[in-house]
Amino acid sequence: MIKRRKTRNFHIGPLKIGSEAPVIIQSMTKVDTQNITAVLKQIKDLTQAGCELVRIAVPTLKDSKALRKIIEQTETPLIADIHFSPSRAIEAIEAGAAKIRLNPGNIKNKKDILRIIDAAKAHNTAVRIGVNEASIRDLKRQTVPPAKRIKLMLNEMKKYVRIFENRSFAQLVLSAKSSDCLRNIKINRLIAEHFDYPLHLGLTHAGLPEDAQIPSAISIGSLLADGIGDTIRVSVAGNPVMEIEIAKQILTSLGLYHSAKPELIVCPTCGRAQIDVIKLAKKVKKALSKIEKPLRIAVMGCVVNGPGEAEDADIALCAAKNKAYLYKNGRRIATIAEKNIIPELLKHLENI
Ligand code: SF4
Repeated sequence: MIKRRKTRNFHIGPLKIGSEAPVIIQSMTKVDTQNITAVLKQIKDLTQAGCELVRIAVPTLKDSKALRKIIEQTETPLIADIHFSPSRAIEAIEAGAAKIRLNPGNIKNKKDILRIIDAAKAHNTAVRIGVNEASIRDLKRQTVPPAKRIKLMLNEMKKYVRIFENRSFAQLVLSAKSSDCLRNIKINRLIAEHFDYPLHLGLTHAGLPEDAQIPSAISIGSLLADGIGDTIRVSVAGNPVMEIEIAKQILTSLGLYHSAKPELIVCPTCGRAQIDVIKLAKKVKKALSKIEKPLRIAVMGCVVNGPGEAEDADIALCAAKNKAYLYKNGRRIATIAEKNIIPELLKHLENI
């Protein structure tokens, strides 16, 4: 079991964040904020998929007004991404955003920062300080060699956090993101060494879903495996619901997410498979989609390695020629003809 890094714990709206709470899955809406119907639909889709916190871009005054209406119509806690404008930050706080995200590269004036801190305190709004590698380059207005960027990001974070601490504000979530997987891991390890605030993990501009999954899993997963990270956002260029599916897979594989849905384990198949494993696995997956139980179901292509590999499963199907052996908790309990595999499996699942 992963031992989480000890952090401060507090609430973001109704959600507890920190080492005493489960890792929060978050995402971002990808439609025009002023299209309130579309935003609400996306928030609903995300929430149903397992997203707990949703971020919304609020670049203009019209977006601030839309945000207020959106907050009135959803129970999902929302984060306002306020870009370059201190006014947007204050408006979002007053509208009831559970959290706002500030980029030190965009909000630099100390008076503005203090105004935002005071408003956030008054409304019990959490603040994420999000340092991005790209913004660090902008701050310097010159090319910064990759090796120096991590130090600059850490220094920028230290300076910004100090302003909040001097104003006795502690509801901070920190994030430092790079689009480079290794630098992303390094900077977050450093941030975790220097601060005890909850950390938001992500990888910027990760790519199209098929390209983003592995770098995101490596970067976010490596940090989570070290116990670092209290909320995650997987960025993909595509439907945000995909971000939630990938985030859940990362968390599940590390034992940090316990779904009410069955988990399907499928052998990779090889020359020993005596059945079309992929076809069978797809049928099993479809059958399991209606079940709301945290079960482990394994589909294995043969009985050579199948039973051993499926020992941890609640139910395992190990295929043989034109049939499958059904194992319950590692013990063989039935032999099923190929055509009856799905109905028989469902019957056994009902009995668990
Ligand atoms: S379970 Fe059997 S078919 Fe599947 S990968 Fe292992 S040896 Fe091959």
